[in-house]
Amino acid sequence: MDLSIVIPLFNEDESLPELAAWIERVVNAQGYSYEVIMIDDGSTDRSWEVIEKLRRGNANIKGIKFQRNYGKSAALNEGFKASQGNVIITMDADMQDSPDEIPDLYNMIIRDGFDLVSGWKKKRYDNTFTKNIPSKLFNAAARSMSKIKLHDFNCGLKSYSRKVVKSIEVYGEMHRYVPVLAKWAGFRKIGEKVVEHRARKYGVTKFGWSRFVNGFLDLMTIFFVGKFGKRPMHFFGLWGTLSFMFGLLVFTYLSISKFFLDKTGMTQRPLFFFAILAMIIGTQLFLAGFIGELISRNSVERNNYLIEEKLGV
Ligand code: UDP
Ligand code: MG
Repeated sequence: MDLSIVIPLFNEDESLPELAAWIERVVNAQGYSYEVIMIDDGSTDRSWEVIEKLRRGNANIKGIKFQRNYGKSAALNEGFKASQGNVIITMDADMQDSPDEIPDLYNMIIRDGFDLVSGWKKKRYDNTFTKNIPSKLFNAAARSMSKIKLHDFNCGLKSYSRKVVKSIEVYGEMHRYVPVLAKWAGFRKIGEKVVEHRARKYGVTKFGWSRFVNGFLDLMTIFFVGKFGKRPMHFFGLWGTLSFMFGLLVFTYLSISKFFLDKTGMTQRPLFFFAILAMIIGTQLFLAGFIGELISRNSVERNNYLIEEKLGV
């Protein structure tokens, strides 16, 4: 199969028929063999009935219905697992992403050899203050932390080669960082394409202000997990030891000073409390690293590596 189109959706019943018809038009014009996987993320409106109806009209349309609302990441993850195409394209259900971009996104994977291509909503039709400005800050932070040159990490419209989606796991709220997940998994050819963005025609946005707080926290998580997830001691152990040594050094100085030099009482000096603090924090960090190390030794994934090719084994 050429193409899988994965669409996470939560209460988007009004958009679905129009979206499905548009996708069908574009895909048929290109003559791809395809499937559209719609993941109903616990909608409380008529979304699932609409999907059932669409499937009766076109067997290429498939559906997965969650028991409750798990979030966009969960929906993408299930969609990725189910997809059979050589190229996987994700898009939002609200028709803010245009299906007309599909052929270009497909070709960039197949012809130009990209592992992942992310859409870039260069001209946005969202509210300037609640979305556009925070989103610029957020993307700048994500860029500098991940060293991936993308302008729009959170764009719902992206295309992937099959091997990328089969080797990453999208969990929590990590749908914003799929390019980072792909990069950690070893996929380097990450491209970008300016895509048309449209105003939401039906329904309302499903993410409020919390998206930015959560977005930054997730960025920290992904950064630490990616860098130190398999070796926590290298982070906590280093800083813990440094902090402890610093405290110990100051303590030694204070002791020498008390007994041999000016004989002032140790506890009268502010430095004393710094030293204690540094040693306590140091011990805490060291222990955190040690516990982290024990946890990662027990993790079933401790030896999960992605092997690209093998010769003679
Ligand atoms: N979505 C989802 N589960 C959720 C929230 C959103 O599947 O818990 C879907 C939603 O239906 C849409 C896409 O994720 O297809 C993007 O959501 P939205 O358009 O609300 O985000 P925005 O465009 O405002 O960033
Ligand atoms: Mg939207």
